Amino acid sequence: MIIQRVVLNSRPGKNGVPVAENFRLEQSTIADTVQAGQVRVKTLYLSVDPYMRCRMNEDTGSDYLQPWQLSEVADGGGIGVVEESKHQNLAKGDFVTSFTWPWQTAAILDGDLLQKLVPQLVNGRLSYFLGAAGITGLTALLGIREKGHVATGANQTMVVSGAAGACGSLAGQIGRLEGCSRVVGIAGTDEKCSILVQEMGFDAAINYKKGDVAKQLREFCPSGVDVYFDNVGGDISDTVISQMNQNSHIILCGQISQYNKDVPYPPPLPPDTEKIQKERNITRERFLVLNYMDKQEASVLQLCQWIQEGKLKVRETVVEGLANIGAAFQSMMNGGNIGKQIVSVSK
Ligand code: NAP
Repeated sequence: MIIQRVVLNSRPGKNGVPVAENFRLEQSTIADTVQAGQVRVKTLYLSVDPYMRCRMNEDTGSDYLQPWQLSEVADGGGIGVVEESKHQNLAKGDFVTSFTWPWQTAAILDGDLLQKLVPQLVNGRLSYFLGAAGITGLTALLGIREKGHVATGANQTMVVSGAAGACGSLAGQIGRLEGCSRVVGIAGTDEKCSILVQEMGFDAAINYKKGDVAKQLREFCPSGVDVYFDNVGGDISDTVISQMNQNSHIILCGQISQYNKDVPYPPPLPPDTEKIQKERNITRERFLVLNYMDKQEASVLQLCQWIQEGKLKVRETVVEGLANIGAAFQSMMNGGNIGKQIVSVSK
């Protein structure tokens, strides 16, 4: 059977900025027959995520991430529909997902490695299982629950960097749902800031590309910062940490501002910031959502409930066509639109 697939065309180099041309669309084939235990799936949605930047390097720098190989098909979070099944628990028409979905229009996959999806849980918005009801939502929720020390009634102020991104836009809302009394976001455009405040219930949002971030933070967080959901690292994080309270907590979610640099993960803090962190006893433990998969099922149900109740506002940008996945990745790495960036493969 003839299919389309996207392979890694070239590596950007450890310190390079990735571009759409690092990927290449090509025609390929898959077997005409499905073996016992396998299913043939049609791909519906693929996710583009910042961690993929590390997979473009020959050495990802992480023991849990495998590098993509040149001229071989890329993979990541994906959703599809079963078209033919020789797996006992999967039938034609089932919707399924995997973290290692190949970037191709159709595939033959091992049924044991797929999770069945229930579209009703997200009001039929299947792509949400790659975002708010998937690994992104889990990252926000479990990051806050495992590393945030958020408690109802404790009058805590949370700051979120990368606040208009897939994780950040959920993290601010979840911080509020879990009990923070004040939530402030940091994002890269006025439009994103305005959506965070007007649609997603943030108390304030700061455009870090304009004006004085430290001054605005002092204004919007008059009692200091108790919880910092850090997606970006770098200068923004140094500024936030300088305004954190004694015994406060950093949720070390990601460091996207450092991903095009050849630095270890997590990057060490500059000496002045490290001094503040130590003196004020600020926790900054590494967080990896994949270490909490025993909590996946209950947490996804919680996220779906909030989505259905309208308590969690979800934004996503869906780019049409597998041929555009490289451009979608490039755009996401440059800030993208608010919320989750998804590629729709069916059309
Ligand atoms: P995303 O949707 O691409 O959002 C990232 C946001 O960061 C964007 O809104 C972007 O927009 C902002 N940003 C990009 N470059 C920046 C820079 N140099 N300085 C400041 N802001 C910048 O990504 P995501 O899926 O939400 O992921 C967010 C972070 O979580 C990433 O670091 C990712 O690696 C991490 N993550 C961690 C785990 C885990 O298990 N720990 C799991 C999933 C994701 P603006 O610049 O316009 O604001």
